[in-house]
Amino acid sequence: MPGGRLVLKFGRERRIKKGHLWVFSTDVHAYPEGAADGDEVSIYSKKGDFIARGFLNRRSGIVARIFSWKDEEFTKEFLSKRINRAVQLRESCGISLKCARIVFSEGDFLPGVIVDRYAGVVVVQFTTLAMDMRRGMVIDAVKSLFEPAVIYERSDVAPRGLEGLDDRKGLVCGELPRQLVVEENGLRFAVDVIEGHKTGMYLDQKLNRKAVMNLVDGGFVLDLFCYNAGFGIHALAGGAERLVAVDSSEKMLELARLNARLNGYEGRCDFVAGNCFDILRGMEKKGGSFRLVCLDPPAFAPTRESVPRALAGYKELNLRALKLVEEGGYMVTSCCSYHVSRDAFLDVVSDAAADARRRVQVIKELTQSPDHPFLAGHPETKYLKCFVLRVWRD
Ligand code: SAH
Repeated sequence: MPGGRLVLKFGRERRIKKGHLWVFSTDVHAYPEGAADGDEVSIYSKKGDFIARGFLNRRSGIVARIFSWKDEEFTKEFLSKRINRAVQLRESCGISLKCARIVFSEGDFLPGVIVDRYAGVVVVQFTTLAMDMRRGMVIDAVKSLFEPAVIYERSDVAPRGLEGLDDRKGLVCGELPRQLVVEENGLRFAVDVIEGHKTGMYLDQKLNRKAVMNLVDGGFVLDLFCYNAGFGIHALAGGAERLVAVDSSEKMLELARLNARLNGYEGRCDFVAGNCFDILRGMEKKGGSFRLVCLDPPAFAPTRESVPRALAGYKELNLRALKLVEEGGYMVTSCCSYHVSRDAFLDVVSDAAADARRRVQVIKELTQSPDHPFLAGHPETKYLKCFVLRVWRD
């Protein structure tokens, strides 16, 4: 096998055997001699047992990332096998491969690789040094497995800095269409793979957007942190009367407007540019009331240290939003901060309900859609919490 031996400290192999894919610098007894960052290595226990194969990067806090628990090389065949397994998983869950995350990094046992597909356009993202070095191999595999008209790269995410990498963004092959439109749950959405967030869409919320589709019949909907207005447009499709969609980004609101038009709902929408904290305060003063409020803020807690502040932010938003829900109405509240646990988030929601003098029933507990599978042994792969609440005054 290529690459040397990385030896773990006594007992540290258990976590990896349970399915965790990361080796931290504090787990290491001895590094392989002569191995360069990005190289394949074999990981051994202190007792001398083979544990797994991984990629080395001593520059990062995560000094090795496991790609297999078998003594095997990372070859073209291995990579195709992993991607095929990911494809099969989506097919077995009934997720259309035309608009989906096809490879979810650690969640698909391929740390550092994201592959998203929007109709004829495949977007790739490399987040680790090892995968960045094998970028050509991944692109070749994507070409031969999916034969996409276009491949676009969005390797412009913060974790690359921790791996010692600069951002890279641009066309890999083909030519982007003037307007890229995908179908989601029977609705049409324009996707901006160049300037959009993530790789263009928040695919992780796909089934949760579907869940709001038949929640209300008539009534007003408030979509906070709306991005492309995905939640709100689904609610309109399900029978809501009018949508108020709020986002701080004018550019994203443009996309939201376009999506409303693409689905024929232009006349039933109001788009508001602004900070949701301020907008909520203003609406509270005016005494607004909605049958459904969707609340999907960005991750407020990028690190463990930022959790207390993040909880305060989530609490304020949930409190103010709950006050705007009419009696017997609904709120769909999300939290995508990995560092805020499900229980901590539920506690924020109940705390907010207490202060808003509301009673809430959780009628659905949702998480990231199954094209973002999470691993039982690798908790960092599970980040999205989403509760569908029924809201009462007494
Ligand atoms: N609900 C969306 C995803 C929301 S992502 C979906 O299902 O696709 C978060 C959005 O919040 C982004 O569009 C970002 O522009 C916006 N945003 C971030 N901070 C904000 C703030 N303080 N006020 C309003 N919008 C904000």
